[in-house]
Amino acid sequence: MSSRKSGEISIKGLPGSEGIAIGTILVLDKKKRKVQPKKIKSDAILAHLKRYAKSKEKFLIELDELAINLDQKTVGILETQKHIASDIEIEKRVNSCIEIELYSVDYSIYKVFNEFIERLKESGSELFQQRIIDIENIRDRLIDLSCEDEQKLEIEKGAILIVKDISPTDLVAFYEKGVKGLVMDKGGVTSHAAIIAHSLDIPCLVSSKIAVDSASEAKKAILDANKGELFLNPTKQRLDEYKKEIRRLKRVKKARVGLQQPSQTKDGVDFHLRANIEFVQELQAAKDYGAEGVGLLRTEALLYGGIAQKSEVEQIKFYENVLSQTDGPVVIRLFDVGGDKLNTHTPDEANPFLGWRGIRMLLDEDEMFEGQLRSILKSAGKYPGQVRILVPMISLLEEVHQVKKRITKIQKGLKKEGLAIDESIPLGIMIEVPSAALLADHFAKEVDFFSIGTNDLTQYALAVDRGNEQICTLYQQHHPSVWKLIELANKAAKENEIEISICGELAGDEIGAACLIGMGITDLSMSPSNIPKVKEALVNRSLEELQAFSKAVFTCSTSNEIKAVFKKMGLANNSPD
Ligand code: PEP
Ligand code: MG
Repeated sequence: MSSRKSGEISIKGLPGSEGIAIGTILVLDKKKRKVQPKKIKSDAILAHLKRYAKSKEKFLIELDELAINLDQKTVGILETQKHIASDIEIEKRVNSCIEIELYSVDYSIYKVFNEFIERLKESGSELFQQRIIDIENIRDRLIDLSCEDEQKLEIEKGAILIVKDISPTDLVAFYEKGVKGLVMDKGGVTSHAAIIAHSLDIPCLVSSKIAVDSASEAKKAILDANKGELFLNPTKQRLDEYKKEIRRLKRVKKARVGLQQPSQTKDGVDFHLRANIEFVQELQAAKDYGAEGVGLLRTEALLYGGIAQKSEVEQIKFYENVLSQTDGPVVIRLFDVGGDKLNTHTPDEANPFLGWRGIRMLLDEDEMFEGQLRSILKSAGKYPGQVRILVPMISLLEEVHQVKKRITKIQKGLKKEGLAIDESIPLGIMIEVPSAALLADHFAKEVDFFSIGTNDLTQYALAVDRGNEQICTLYQQHHPSVWKLIELANKAAKENEIEISICGELAGDEIGAACLIGMGITDLSMSPSNIPKVKEALVNRSLEELQAFSKAVFTCSTSNEIKAVFKKMGLANNSPD
């Protein structure tokens, strides 16, 4: 949806991460380059050989520069890309394609890399299959660099990035280069890039559908991710209004962050607000907003770039980096590959969200699974009492049994090696599949804690793909059916005296947090930038008010009714967001 007003174009989307940004525009419209089999004359051979050599040189420099700008954990991925790009066999083949077969440099690269990819496909190995996408990326980048029409991407500090879709790693790289806002034509509010944008505390609009196509001619934009609107070429009047609004929001935010009082309701009931993070860069925001530890450490970033298994040394470095910088617990979630996370690295599936995801994949990939467990358990030995292990996508009890067996086996091995271990490291499961919520009373007897992943629980309960912009209005995290599943898990946790927390986006929203505390779930983990508003909402209410609200929620039959009750009970703040 778009509308025009004196050269200004307004495009609607959904708020994926709150905030407002004014900036220049950076549009990334990745269209695949078409590479045709082109023959060259023999007097052009030298020029094409040089172009290939130059493209490799540029690519390796690019990777080195990226390694400086990014954090430690991506460096290993880049090293592997360097090895592939400078592989002697590949180099010989490309050079011979140019010299002997007289193909152009771009086609020679294309042909040789494709032959390599075909060999990997034939190998039948799952792990090799997962590397194919990376090799394709290296191939395409080398082709781009070898072509003279390569456009240099200039990134201005404070630019608003407009894309169809973006991987979390690319988003972090753009953020580090100064991007201050994100607009995505695709995706829903809980799609992975939106969650990372939120964590990095930059505004993000999703499901804008036509922003990439509309923005090609525009120079400047206002991104209002509070209201869900992008203004291209804004009028002077609008710019002035928004500059004023940004100043006001800064004042409000400062006042909220300044909330020094303890995390207690008005009548003294303690609650805990923790951070969901994936990148070390997010720890600063977690500290600034007063998070009590990390309630969800997503670990998929260790696999970005396609190395199916990160070395233990590098994994340990990452975990210990987070642990040493965090006061309080760190809940490390095992690799949740599949669904919308790294789904380009799993085989083509008709229904990736219902497919080979999370624990299902880990139980099939011994090396990856045991490597991660060993790395976590070694780190936990050095930080006893601080680490908790969280297993994603549990849907069957047998999966828990398998995980426990593996942990026991690895703990024994580490002990034999004389390494320190945390004997009583807590093991928890994500309650994000309805079957786990429905059988929570059985699961509660097997584990130390539940962490409810409402992002997935919502999509599985309502049968709505969380990333599909076509049906995003049906993705309702306040839906009564979701609350019923949460209550089943809550009841089972309380009866079996195990801990329960929430790490889905529902916890970072005032309605969600208010109802959860009212239900007696007092451990909430969220994107760090949500902490101030949730804390403000909770410290100003008594438990009695919140209990009355949650009681009312359970009489509602629609999400809108729940929102109306929240307002009617006077729980909505007059806050800007
Ligand atoms: C969830 O599903 O609610 C969750 C926290 O995990 P993720 O968003 O990483 O799937
Ligand atoms: Mg999930």
